[in-house]
Amino acid sequence: MVQDVDGNRFLDFMAGIAVSATGYGHPKVVAAVKEAADRFLHICGSDFYYESMAELCERLARVAPGPSKKRVFLTNSGTEAIEAAIKLARYATRRTAIIAFRGAFHGRTTGAVSLTSSKARQHAGFGPLLPDVHHVPFAYRYRCQFCSGMPACTRGCIGVIEQDLFARHLDPHDVAAIFIEPIQGEGGYVVPPEGYLRDLRELCDRYGILLVADEVQCGVGRTGKMWACDHEGVEPDILLTAKGLGSGMPIGALVAKESISTWESGSHGSTFGGNPVCCAAALATLDLVEGGLMANAARMGERLMTGVCTLATRHECIGDVRGRGLMVGMELVRDRSTREPAADLLQQLVQDSFRNGLLLLGAGKSTLRLAPPLVVDEYDVDTALEMIDEGLQGLGSRAAGQESAAAEVGP
Ligand code: PLP
Repeated sequence: MVQDVDGNRFLDFMAGIAVSATGYGHPKVVAAVKEAADRFLHICGSDFYYESMAELCERLARVAPGPSKKRVFLTNSGTEAIEAAIKLARYATRRTAIIAFRGAFHGRTTGAVSLTSSKARQHAGFGPLLPDVHHVPFAYRYRCQFCSGMPACTRGCIGVIEQDLFARHLDPHDVAAIFIEPIQGEGGYVVPPEGYLRDLRELCDRYGILLVADEVQCGVGRTGKMWACDHEGVEPDILLTAKGLGSGMPIGALVAKESISTWESGSHGSTFGGNPVCCAAALATLDLVEGGLMANAARMGERLMTGVCTLATRHECIGDVRGRGLMVGMELVRDRSTREPAADLLQQLVQDSFRNGLLLLGAGKSTLRLAPPLVVDEYDVDTALEMIDEGLQGLGSRAAGQESAAAEVGP
C-alpha cells in the first residue's frame, strides 16, 4: 500500500517499476540498512575489502544460474551493469560486435542505450551511438512475423539471426555477445517461447559468442524462480541484475563465469558500486526472497495469471496475456482479429485505476504491466483484479456511450 500526502491509499501493482520487491520499507531491510549506516557509510570497495561486499559477491555467485565458478562486480544501477558487460564481453573475446533485440531496454548510458531499441526518443539527439550494435527481432509470439504465434516455434526467430544477419551482414566470429532480457520488460512483458533461450545458448556456443542475460527487471525472484533463465535451465556467460536486488537501494551486479573474467585488476571499477549500506539492503532482500517471497511470487503469480485470463474471456480488448510469476503482461488491442494496439485504452485504464486507488504502469505500445511487490497476498491480487475488471468495464461503457452519442448526432 502507498499513502499520499492527502491520506489517499493506493494498492501498488507496479513496485516503482519492479524495484520495491519487498515493499516500500520492509522492517528487515530497513533494520539492515540502519545497522550498516551506523557502522560506516563508505570506503570504496575497489580498493578496500569489507565483509558485506564479499558476502554479497559470494552469495550472488552461489545463486547465479549454472555450475560454473563465477566472479562478481557490483554497480550502482542496471545501466552500469550493462556497461560493464559490454566492456567485459569485448575484452574477453577481443571481438567488437554486439547483438541485441528489437523492443529491448537495457538502460540510458551511452553503451546501454545503444543496445536499447524500445522508443526512438530514447536515442533522439544523442547520436552517434556505439558502433557495431545489431538489432534482431525478439521472439514476440503474439506479433511474430515468422511463427504466427505457434506456441512451440523458436526456429524462425533464431533462424533469422543465422540466415539473415550472419549470412548477409555480419560474420558471427566478429560477435562478442548477444544481450537478451529473458523476459522483455519495457518492451511489453514479452515471454519468448519455451526453448528459445536454450536455442540461443546453442547458437552462441556454435560461434564462441557470449550470452548475456539482462535480468535487471525479471530477476531476484520476481518470476517465481531466482532468475528467469532458471525456467529454462540456461547458464548465461554473464548475468546482470539491479532493480529488485536492493529493495530500492541503488545496487546492481554483473555475475560472470570465471573463465571469461580475464580482465586485469584496474581494467574496470566504481567508486560507489557495492556501497556497504546498499550491500546490506541486498543481503537482507536475498534473505527474504529465498526465505519465502520467491515461492510467494510463484503462487500469487499463478493466481494473478488465472485472474487475468478470466478477464480476457470477458473483455474483447484484451488481445494477449503472458508472463511468469509476478511479471504479467496484458496486451490491449482495438480488435482481436487485426491485433491493432490500443495505446489510448491502456492510458485510460492506468489513469482511471489511479483515481480509483490502484497503481499501474504500461509497457510496450499497449501492454499493462503487472509487477507488484513480491509480498502481495491473495486479498491484494483479488482486489487488483476486481479493480482492473471495473476499469475495463468503464472503458467498454465509455466507448459504447461515445458510439451512441455519435449515432444520435448523425452525419
Ligand atoms: N535493463 C533492464 C531490463 C531494465 O528494465 C532497466 C531499467 O528499467 C535497465 C536495464 C536499466 O536499469 P537502471 O534504470 O537501473 O539503470
